[in-house]
Amino acid sequence: MSRKPIIAGNWKMNLLQSEAKALFEGIKSFTKDFTAQQLPTIVIAPVFTSLSAVSSEGCDCGCGCDKISIAGQNCHWEKSGAYTGEISVEMLADAGCSYVIIGHSERRQYFSETDEMINKKAKAILAGGLIPIICCGETLEQREAGVTDQHIATQIRAALNGLSEEEVAKSVIAYEPIWAIGTGKTCDSQEANRVIAMIRNVVKEVSSASAGDSIRILYGGSVKPSTIEEQMSQSDIDGALVGGASLKAESFNEIIANTMKVSV
Ligand code: PEP
Repeated sequence: MSRKPIIAGNWKMNLLQSEAKALFEGIKSFTKDFTAQQLPTIVIAPVFTSLSAVSSEGCDCGCGCDKISIAGQNCHWEKSGAYTGEISVEMLADAGCSYVIIGHSERRQYFSETDEMINKKAKAILAGGLIPIICCGETLEQREAGVTDQHIATQIRAALNGLSEEEVAKSVIAYEPIWAIGTGKTCDSQEANRVIAMIRNVVKEVSSASAGDSIRILYGGSVKPSTIEEQMSQSDIDGALVGGASLKAESFNEIIANTMKVSV
């Protein structure tokens, strides 16, 4: 089963609008030489205040395709109302987003997001016609205690609860071991592939074989230009969610280029 790879950049709480635009231009200067078919699906997730600035720059290849998709880094599940500081799926769509990252470990850890909240967000995102990038991953303590698979399976079952097969098939999961995020330590590629294959089996069990074969599952955690080829050569890794290395056009473009050497 061939799944189009995704290279997604999570810019986190970084870059002012002018810096975000400059980074976007730097990525476009690479993508302009390729068709959308030649490229992986490229997604960038700027801060909310830069979404419109970046999406209004759009694709300028002249063929009407969308080579760089925009993602929100979070959303609320309600459409509108008294939720100070939150943003709805419709608002993200209005600002040019087609994806939303949910359940990032930083949101779970610092903002107390629960599996139940992540499930509500996934449902709202899909109902609004956008695609959730659902993050999961274990702490170092959980890995050392031997409960990685059990913990991640629980996160995935909860996140996908109540979604139709079609909704699951179009969703994206990012496996991000917490101990590998922003630390420079990448998870061994074979081990990341093993966990991702396990996640795919959980998806097949809770949804359907075909949804499990279609869903794209990314690896995230200190991905760099030097690691991506080996990661993308694994059977079940369908791409990467990149933090630090997505903040410079040079390294992000090299990750895209190295991905194209082994898949797309
Ligand atoms: C992330 O925050 O999703 C991430 C993977 O960060 P980094 O690539 O910096 O480890």
